[in-house]
Amino acid sequence: MHAHIRPQPGIMDIALYQGGTSKIAGRDDVVKLSSNENPFGPGDLARLAYARAGHDLHRYPPTDHAGLRAALGAHFGIDASRIICGAGSDEIISFLCQAYAGPGDEVLYSQHGFLMYRISALAAGATPVVAPERDRTADVDALLAAANKRTKLVFIANPNNPTGTMIPLEEITRLAEGLPKQALLVLDGAYAEYAENYDGGAALVDQRDNVVMTRTFSKLFGLGGLRVGWGYGPQHVIDVLNRLRGPFNLSNMQLDIAEAALGDTAHIARSLSENARLRDWLAEKLNAIGVVTDRSFANFVLARFRDAAQAEACNAALLSEGLIVRQVGSYGLPEGLRITIGDESACRRVAHVIGAFM
Ligand code: PMP
Repeated sequence: MHAHIRPQPGIMDIALYQGGTSKIAGRDDVVKLSSNENPFGPGDLARLAYARAGHDLHRYPPTDHAGLRAALGAHFGIDASRIICGAGSDEIISFLCQAYAGPGDEVLYSQHGFLMYRISALAAGATPVVAPERDRTADVDALLAAANKRTKLVFIANPNNPTGTMIPLEEITRLAEGLPKQALLVLDGAYAEYAENYDGGAALVDQRDNVVMTRTFSKLFGLGGLRVGWGYGPQHVIDVLNRLRGPFNLSNMQLDIAEAALGDTAHIARSLSENARLRDWLAEKLNAIGVVTDRSFANFVLARFRDAAQAEACNAALLSEGLIVRQVGSYGLPEGLRITIGDESACRRVAHVIGAFM
């Protein structure tokens, strides 16, 4: 029997994707800080919607996601008719690669870009191409230099995972303007809400024909387990992606809970302010004991150690205290530990253990 799928690394080969297990035998004080999840979990409105869900489990969900799209349109001030919803932004990234990149095509992204760009490009039979960064930050000149007539997709996460760095909208605009005309620019805004005064690129999407934005409920909204993400783009792109989408790719429950979460202004405000406060606090503590960080615009910090061995030893020290963070060797930064900003107690524990380790 032959599957029509090329040999490629699949998600099961990326054992570190989850950043390890959240269970450590014999401990009840384990904190998982390895997947950039919201430490407060879902907000009250999402929990309420979850509790109410289930009355319509025998009904198929709406195929057009009209309710959630309308809520997203109103919340972000964008055109609901040019939104597509999927099972996490991972699914939107996968649709983009399936639709726009095939054998002989190139998918371009920055050196320390999100792992799914490579996985989805390979799954589509395309060739992943990596452009160098400058100081762990996307470099528009390097991306433009690497783009050519085979480039079909250019991914840039802003802010970026795992570095936490971001580039200004003017630089993104310069990238969008300078790319060859067949290339589509994807602005991955998984962490966009955490960056103050940044619209994730929505205005640029409205101005241009070659820019798409992806967003998620997995981070700020505390719904990583729900699997809801979305994309916003020019009509011609959304039409193409909708042809790849199954009619029932999101359940009633996913749609209802995500919509409720959007309206939870108290949860959103608390998550944002606590994240900003504790992120800056933790970065300062780390810097004071000789662990360097770049300024993070997201809900994690990338702590950089002398070398991979020191990072590994520190990771082991954290783990022995029940603190699970992520050593980002799979992103080409083995000297780095990416630490999700937890609640105050988790941040204090992390600072304490690293302080003792150093
Ligand atoms: N983009 C980036 C940059 C991410 O870090 C993640 C999650 N780790 C995603 C996209 C995918 O998130 P989800 O599929 O949960 O929406």
